[in-house]
Amino acid sequence: MIKNFDFMLPTKIRYGIGMIKVLGEELKLLMAKKIMIITDKGLVQAGMIAKITDLIKAEGLSVIIYDEIEANPKDYNVELAAETARKESIDTIVAFGGGSPIDAAKAVSALIKQGGKVRDYQEKGKIKDDCIPLITIPTTAGTGSEVTFSSVITDTTEKFKFTIKSPAIAAKVAIIDPELTLSVPPMITAATGIDALTHGIEGYTANCTEPIAEAIGLYAIEYIAKNIVEAVKNGQNMEARDKMMMGSLLAGLSFSHADVASVHCMAEALGSMYDAPHGMCNAILLPFVMEYNLPSAELKYARIARTMGIDEKDDHEAAVKGIEYIKRLSKEIGLPGIKSLKINREDFILLAEMSVQNGSNASNPRTITQDDYIMLFNKAYDDLVS
Ligand code: NAD
Repeated sequence: MIKNFDFMLPTKIRYGIGMIKVLGEELKLLMAKKIMIITDKGLVQAGMIAKITDLIKAEGLSVIIYDEIEANPKDYNVELAAETARKESIDTIVAFGGGSPIDAAKAVSALIKQGGKVRDYQEKGKIKDDCIPLITIPTTAGTGSEVTFSSVITDTTEKFKFTIKSPAIAAKVAIIDPELTLSVPPMITAATGIDALTHGIEGYTANCTEPIAEAIGLYAIEYIAKNIVEAVKNGQNMEARDKMMMGSLLAGLSFSHADVASVHCMAEALGSMYDAPHGMCNAILLPFVMEYNLPSAELKYARIARTMGIDEKDDHEAAVKGIEYIKRLSKEIGLPGIKSLKINREDFILLAEMSVQNGSNASNPRTITQDDYIMLFNKAYDDLVS
């Protein structure tokens, strides 16, 4: 029997090449008067901000740029941005960037009106509906944060990445224009692309998944697996960029209605301890966690493998070949192994403790303990997929 579930999507999605042009129209529909663009210095240096400030000014609206958001956005980034927004009487936020600015902007949208520290909102049910309207414009094809209900923030005191989650912080509108990803360098294209692939795989296989999230997740996997190599090796290929962006969007929809699982639990621990790129951490861990999950997820892994193009009738063989394929894929697109993070083996105990405490631990398709996580960090360190 199919278990009961709810499926809601509070975000209006406007997708397509050149779609950025509707920004002014959407701001007017939201009755925006004073807008804060939340972004990062990388996008400013890439000369991309004028693309949206020109559109906003053309509507006669007032805009300020907040570009202080760091990668793996920090608690103080969010709190300082909210303070600035309050002082400037901002009524609408436009998040422009990868997952870091978008996640920060979601948290800022709640903090402006509801006050306090961002970590206060980790507790379920803490975020009220009273949030500043948010438009998300992703510039990487990876996190799907433009449509998810979550925001992942680093607690800099505890060095711990935590998630705040509520439909109230979801964007009112996501303007998704794949052309904005043409400038993403190969290494970031690779890491963000594997992040999206992981969302598709974990959304499809999580314990709490349901048929809509499964269907969307599987379709996402197909888009990503068939286009990631081309997008990394030939970043100007608009068709590959388009399909990666669609894969990322679908994967975001899938996992936000199901959950992520142990790959993310471990990746977020690594990301908070070493401030490492999130997608790269996922890529390092994905095949090892899949190998661990194999006894509980064989049929689904076989289907994932076939979706990625592996022609194998036997389910066990197909699942194993799929895991090997993913491992080779990460190498082919130039993603390094765990040792590139200059990691200490002594940290594995703490990293495993953080992984087990992650809110998505219970969603892993196979029960997993702190000792299992230590074993998986060791396997990744020794680069052993059997
Ligand atoms: P990011 O936002 O940290 O960006 C990485 C780098 O890419 C930055 O230097 C940025 O300036 C640059 N960049 C972005 N777009 C560019 C472009 N078009 N051209 C050139 N450079 C560009 O990376 P990300 O992987 O998109 O986001 C990672 C964050 O998202 C992590 O903190 C992760 O935890 C979070 N995340 C959130 C969700 C969610 O649903 N909320 C899901 C997955 C990941």
